Amino acid sequence: MPNVYLDHNATTPLLPEVREAMQVYLGDQWFNPSSGHRGAKLVRKAIEESRAQVARLLGATPEEIIFTSGGTESINTALRMVDQKGARILTTAAEHSAAYETLQELAKERGIEVVSIGVGADGLLDLEELARELKVEGNYLLNILWANNETGVVQPLAEIIDMAHQAGVPVHVDAVQAAGKMPLSPAIAAADYVSISGHKINGPKGIGALMVRKARRFSSLISGGGQEQKRRGGTENVPGIIGLGKACELIVDGAGDEGLSSVAAKRDRLEKGLTDQLECRVNGNEAPRLANTSSITFPGCHAEGLLLLLEDAGLICSTGSACSTGKLQPSRVLTAMGLSRADAKSTLRFSLSQLTTDQEIDHALEVIPKAVAKLKSVQSPIAGPVVVYRPKS
Ligand code: PLP
Repeated sequence: MPNVYLDHNATTPLLPEVREAMQVYLGDQWFNPSSGHRGAKLVRKAIEESRAQVARLLGATPEEIIFTSGGTESINTALRMVDQKGARILTTAAEHSAAYETLQELAKERGIEVVSIGVGADGLLDLEELARELKVEGNYLLNILWANNETGVVQPLAEIIDMAHQAGVPVHVDAVQAAGKMPLSPAIAAADYVSISGHKINGPKGIGALMVRKARRFSSLISGGGQEQKRRGGTENVPGIIGLGKACELIVDGAGDEGLSSVAAKRDRLEKGLTDQLECRVNGNEAPRLANTSSITFPGCHAEGLLLLLEDAGLICSTGSACSTGKLQPSRVLTAMGLSRADAKSTLRFSLSQLTTDQEIDHALEVIPKAVAKLKSVQSPIAGPVVVYRPKS
């Protein structure tokens, strides 16, 4: 069997329809949309059609959509608008590093007070703590990751936005993982800023969008030639924009609850098969979760070693940890949920898609227990240095 790819939260393959829509803008229609000639005007028209497609997915008007280079730029644009020393930004303890690192920098460089609201063992935001912090003066923005990339835990967005708005605080929503994996409406309609990314929704890499609600404050991150109504300078990534629009259109038109429930059934079968056979725990399974995501702790197993054994056995997934400067750090998200450092370092993320087949789940259920057994038989104790065992073949 060719490699089984269970890492769709990292990135997704281009759908053929998306590739086809982009093709013409990689070929004949290569003009600069800001030029005045007829060919360029056709490209401009195509960009505006894409904007309308993205707007439909996000429950917004086309004028509220700004194209960016991806989720990270969208998030940076939304957060870096806050520039007043002493201003407070509320965020969560389980953010993606695109928001986490940006907020760390804002605190250091601009004297912004970043207040991180805790999550419970289930991964859900502590709403009482949020309510308390919303009462404090000086809140400029609430930043919230809607569906967590590591655990799939989905925050109660409508309730959170309602609480923030009652306190007069606008909300930025990182919907990078939520888009395409769950219905965005009606909750999304109340958000003030929303970030999405092309490559997480079977679109191209290097393209994303930021939705900025009409009445909300905006300042651009990248100035230049006046593109995007002077909100994001730089000649447009036309094929990327067309691909993002098509990917959004396909979500709006097609991926209904039916597809999502078949993904959930496969994910549940994977989890049941593993928990029946092995000593392991599913993180966040008491909270509402994305249908495709499973974060599983295999106590006593080095996740990095497991990952390599699984890749050798034809299964691609990822760890719940991030490597920084060559040193393996336990995942912030998992430790915020109360996992020990050792357990966080023993966690793998499996992320499925509507392309995942039953045979692929069978393969995963066959190779994961074998890899766990092999690793346990050779590795050093979890507290010691990470030993990666890779059999010679
Ligand atoms: N936010 C979340 C939740 C993500 O999972 C990611 C990507 O992993 C990003 C933001 C960043 O998106 P991009 O890769 O388009 O910069």
